[in-house]
Amino acid sequence: MDPKKILFVVIDGVSDRPIEGKTPLDSASTPNLDYLAKIGINGIMDTIAPGIRPGSDTSHLALFGYDPFECYSGRGPIEAAGAGIKLEEGDLAFRVNFGTVEGEGSVFDKTVVDRRAGRIDDTDDLVEAVRNIDLSKFGIDFVFERGSGHRGAIVFRGKVSDRVSDTDPKEMGLKVKRAKPLDESEEARITAEAVNYFMEEAHKILEKHPKNREREKNGLLRANVLLLRGGGKVRKVEPFEEKFGMKLAFITGTTLIKGIGKFIGADLIEVEGATGNKKTNLKGKFEAAVKALNDYDIVLLHIKATDELGHDGDFDGKMEFIQKVDREAEILKGLDFSKICLIVTADHSTPIKVRDHTADPVPVTIVHEGVRVDEIDRFSELVAYKGGLCRIRGIDLFNIVLDLTNRAKKFGA
Ligand SMILES: [Zn+2]
Repeated sequence: MDPKKILFVVIDGVSDRPIEGKTPLDSASTPNLDYLAKIGINGIMDTIAPGIRPGSDTSHLALFGYDPFECYSGRGPIEAAGAGIKLEEGDLAFRVNFGTVEGEGSVFDKTVVDRRAGRIDDTDDLVEAVRNIDLSKFGIDFVFERGSGHRGAIVFRGKVSDRVSDTDPKEMGLKVKRAKPLDESEEARITAEAVNYFMEEAHKILEKHPKNREREKNGLLRANVLLLRGGGKVRKVEPFEEKFGMKLAFITGTTLIKGIGKFIGADLIEVEGATGNKKTNLKGKFEAAVKALNDYDIVLLHIKATDELGHDGDFDGKMEFIQKVDREAEILKGLDFSKICLIVTADHSTPIKVRDHTADPVPVTIVHEGVRVDEIDRFSELVAYKGGLCRIRGIDLFNIVLDLTNRAKKFGA
């Protein structure tokens, strides 16, 4: 018997809290998703646990069988993985922004006038120059990589502690922050010293870099500071293929989810025009996902804009985008469900009125040969609770899928 393939379609933040009884998903016309709900088994899901507001990162870890309480230690390590840094256990990782500071004196006396350095895009030369900083007197090494636009990631390696504070003030008009040790340990003190030394040296290098002189001449903001935030110590996880014996691919236009993919050892499939916003190439992404099932055991198709429109508080925009997703989801109806297990769900709710993630459970539909088809006939967070799955957690969903595809091991004799 051929091993069954698994396709996760995760529509980020698709579910909502009703406003006068209505939600964007429940109000949208979604004949294709409704059809899948009708031929599948349905339920609602707490991706982390009831009442816990999930991030997209922690919830995706849970959806792929990793307990976020065990393996998640902040955004830094995820962004660093996403930027292509090979992480080692015990590394201290931060997210980095190129920013602009003005004023006199040391970097910590200067004021942040832009946290994105005018949305600078070409940072290669600057990154290269900063790499020359030497932290060996602290017994610390570092790896610095750029991300998209003004973003990047840095990893400090050696006798480092994660008990140090960020240097990013997170608001314009404030001074750059000094990293402070957050406990009494020698490691925390030395790490904070090394980070502050790095901040100062990086500022000196960037301040006189020809690239910044050229930017200034062209009326652009200089990228003359690195702002560090989201620091966390890397906890290495067992790569997905070793842990579960399956080949995993992620299709996403979102840097954070790419980072999760790299963190757990997934292959990333790039789709042209997959932007992670509402202009994304949905058609291309759905086609790529179906095609990827030939080469992979398990594929994630992640769709982002529903979450963004929730953050924007845009009810109609969210509803319309859901309808676009539904049109492209037609391709899923043609899958052979005796060979493929399809899951349609979300990573969390992003309600219009809250404009942020909430713990309201998300709908989940599983379509596969042998599931106990229930009476649910549409894909909606308002009715899914009546389905045969009832209410499950994210980590349960992964176990259920392993069982349905005959990969689960017996517990006991
Ligand atoms: Zn979000």
